[in-house]
Amino acid sequence: MRVDVLGVAFDNVTMDEAADRALAMLEEDRPHLVATPNPEIVQRANQDPEFAGILAKADLVVPDGVGVIYAAKILGRPLKARVPGIDLASSLLSRIAGTGKRLFLLGAAPGVAEQAAVNLRAAYPGLVVCGVHDGYFQEGGPVAEAVRAARADLVFVCLGAPKQEKWIAANGEAAGARLYIGLGGAMDVFAGKVERAPEKFQRLGLEWLYRLAKEPSRIGRMVKLPLFLVSAAGAKIRGK
Ligand code: UDP
Repeated sequence: MRVDVLGVAFDNVTMDEAADRALAMLEEDRPHLVATPNPEIVQRANQDPEFAGILAKADLVVPDGVGVIYAAKILGRPLKARVPGIDLASSLLSRIAGTGKRLFLLGAAPGVAEQAAVNLRAAYPGLVVCGVHDGYFQEGGPVAEAVRAARADLVFVCLGAPKQEKWIAANGEAAGARLYIGLGGAMDVFAGKVERAPEKFQRLGLEWLYRLAKEPSRIGRMVKLPLFLVSAAGAKIRGK
């Protein structure tokens, strides 16, 4: 059963359950979409019906940010766990390394996916990265062709939301892979361009605070978080 958090329905899963479900999708011969929305992305979905429709039909939707967890709690329908997209991706990589499953990396500035491939191959011995492509292209078709030619099973799509989910909805079938995960800025992290917060911050749900200290220009994006929680309280009061 899914849990509605301000218009986006989330799967109520732990990290292990999410990874199990994603792995099972690799065995089914059709394209699957996994989305990892944070509060900002939920708000975007509220303003973009096409994007909201894609999320509603996604095969797995996990709460990337602690803000979604707080909002669910305020709404009186708590979610089991925060499932950051990048951790879900890492968990999947450790489980597919050595199995022959083929990963394609799509997104970020030119050169970043190449570096991410080098780092991921080193971090997960036996991992097959079958192709890469940057995220700054005009038409989706040729990229879908490249993914198909690489015979990918799994694609990390890092174009930012909602672009990545729209690309997957439009091209997933033609690109021929079974599992597509929208992972936003994760490629920059895999490539070592952006650092993740130290584990202590992650455990306390304070990754956002660390990122804010590192990149003060993110403040404009972050003031939206309290507003998101206020919306949750409002929805609760209205009995939604
Ligand atoms: N990006 C891209 N193509 C685009 C726009 C963005 O590949 O047309 C990449 C960008 O380089 C960055 C990522 O998408 O690596 C977006 O990261 P952000 O953290 O802003 O995304 P979010 O997770 O917040 O959606």
